[in-house]
Amino acid sequence: MIYLEKVSKRYPNNMLALNDVSFAINKGEFVSIVGHSGAGKSTILKMIIAEDAPTTGNVFFHSADIHRLNRRDTLDYRRRVGVIFQDGRLLPNKTAYENIAFAMEVAGCEEDEIEADVPGVLKLVGLQDKIWNFPHELSGGERQRIAIARAIINQPDLIIADEPTGNLDPINTVDIINILKKINEMGTTIILTTHNKNTVDALGKRVITLDSGKIMRDEKHGKYAL
Ligand code: ADP
Repeated sequence: MIYLEKVSKRYPNNMLALNDVSFAINKGEFVSIVGHSGAGKSTILKMIIAEDAPTTGNVFFHSADIHRLNRRDTLDYRRRVGVIFQDGRLLPNKTAYENIAFAMEVAGCEEDEIEADVPGVLKLVGLQDKIWNFPHELSGGERQRIAIARAIINQPDLIIADEPTGNLDPINTVDIINILKKINEMGTTIILTTHNKNTVDALGKRVITLDSGKIMRDEKHGKYAL
């Protein structure tokens, strides 16, 4: 589904953030990417969401090279990928409902579809009773659950979660990971970056370990070991 072929990334300051990285991720996988700060995790995610391009090498989604798509196809591609950030990035002046509705409006959905779908996705993340709350009226864990709801509302093929539990306590971390597991069990591919050893070890799923822009290990039932 996603294939990185010999991807290297050198930033304008000459920093070689990725050095000949190749891996493939199949539909339905749940893959954790781990590594010390500066190892290249965020850079890999940027390559996959087409926020930045490799210096050399290619990134394929199915058979399309995502860095050679025209503008329209790039937008289409981005719609098939849901992204969750560490800080949630909810719109502060919109309620939980409106934050999720906005993602549907951008994707071209009609009002009746939005009204039909938003309550269901809030139920999936266990926040149907917070539908009219603004982000500042929610806890950190609840904000992340809204961010997940927003990321999945347009039924993406792939979810990219960049340190989604980085700001959370252990209980909220377990909740968020369980929601991601549930989404994965429903068929969505998930790529997660995390510093949380307990999370990765408890998942028992594939782990790609990065060090200085290179893949150190890629294990099917991996553990967090740096
Ligand atoms: P991680 O997510 O594993 O912490 P990053 O992918 O953010 O690592 O960074 C990898 C390396 O690239 C680091 O040395 C970082 O300082 C450098 N880097 C990241 N983004 C940029 C940028 N926009 N310009 C220059 N260097 C960058």
